[in-house]
Amino acid sequence: MRDLALSDDVEPPGSSLEAASATAYDLFPGIAPAPLRSPHRLTQPSLPRDPAPKKKKNHHYVPSFVISERSDSYRRRFHPETSIREWNDWRWQQRHRLRSLDDLERVLTLTDDEREAIARHSGPLPFGITPYYASLLDPENANQGLRRTAVPTLGEFVRTAGEELDPLGEDSTSPVPGLVHRYPDRVLFLVTGLCAVYCRYCTRARLVGATGEGSLKKHQIEDALAYIAATPSIRDVLISGGDPLSLDDERLDWILGRLRAMPHVEFIRIGTKNPAVLPQRITPALVRILKKHGSPWMSIHFTHPDELTPEVAQACARLADAGVPLGSQTVLLRGVNDDVPTMRRLVHGLLKIRVKPYYLYQCDPIAGSSHFRTPVARGLEIIEGLRGHTTGYAVPTYVIDAPGGGGKIPLLPNYVVGRDGNDIVLRNYAGRHFRYPDPEGARQDPTANPCASA
Ligand code: SF4
Repeated sequence: MRDLALSDDVEPPGSSLEAASATAYDLFPGIAPAPLRSPHRLTQPSLPRDPAPKKKKNHHYVPSFVISERSDSYRRRFHPETSIREWNDWRWQQRHRLRSLDDLERVLTLTDDEREAIARHSGPLPFGITPYYASLLDPENANQGLRRTAVPTLGEFVRTAGEELDPLGEDSTSPVPGLVHRYPDRVLFLVTGLCAVYCRYCTRARLVGATGEGSLKKHQIEDALAYIAATPSIRDVLISGGDPLSLDDERLDWILGRLRAMPHVEFIRIGTKNPAVLPQRITPALVRILKKHGSPWMSIHFTHPDELTPEVAQACARLADAGVPLGSQTVLLRGVNDDVPTMRRLVHGLLKIRVKPYYLYQCDPIAGSSHFRTPVARGLEIIEGLRGHTTGYAVPTYVIDAPGGGGKIPLLPNYVVGRDGNDIVLRNYAGRHFRYPDPEGARQDPTANPCASA
């Protein structure tokens, strides 16, 4: 682990790196940062002749970001002219995303398949990879999970039955640009089409990164806010995109402030991947804004345990220390995270950094997704491999977001073996059978088979 970069941001109380050290890092020793160096820890001479002049507190000299050895070695190799301070500036990361074939060729040994896919690509869902995230990719192994999720391959051009550009039918339930209003009490507020890293399996592949990576114009945001203000049945707003943390602090502050001023909006959530792919975005200044607006809930898109770096642990510690409830959303992806050991490492790692594994999604049938989609049976096997084998806090809800707009439908392995008289017969995680006396249930369930037995 390298030492720390310096930032002009002053940590809010309770979320300094040292505070983080006492929480996430203590729980996650494998990613613990090196001891902090700060001006306050300089050794003082033991017997000064004159009283030492009082040191002025320098509030601008506060360590704000860790940088892992791996990322730092990438920085030194591919951006030798860039200081750690610049590297840790999220805007620098945004500006220096890898966007072209030449950019990628410089840092990865591309396969013919990857090269051709990049050359053929046009339209939305371009590729874009922050230098930080690129530092996590295996330069030689095209089958590495993270690399497959970020670098295009020819699989994207294969169309199979049942795939759609808009599988969830979002576009047909959009009353004004940027809003999806399917359920009476909640809306999806798509404030931008810009993402720090474009996932190759994105449900909104038809929208993100299109038309020059634009965000909603101010007047469009005003129209969406006016719709929400005029619809008192909306109590829950999910701010998403694209990645809403691509917006600058000022705009986020304004949007959150406007939503918070609506008495019927009781619950605000932010859906983002930035803490995983651009953890430098979680600045103390951003955290202060979130705190000011009641620390909205945050759903973070995590894919693989390789994403759980010291930088990510620090970002999540900052958010958690500021009272932001954190949950993860993970898409089940073939050859990336579709086995029990990988998923177990992911969910355990998430708990250590105070992120509750929330949803495991069956990959949506977007156009060109067949190389990522697994059989549903694989997802059930993974839940079976987690449930009962680890704490329930670590077990996400496995769902299919029903094509055509049917909403999230939970899927569980079948733990009900059958019914025997008045008993319901259940199977536990270890395959042992147990009975539960359920006399009322027998009468209420007309499909119950009275002959079934354990
Ligand atoms: S971060 Fe989210 S919106 Fe952006 S490309 Fe990935 S899945 Fe799509």
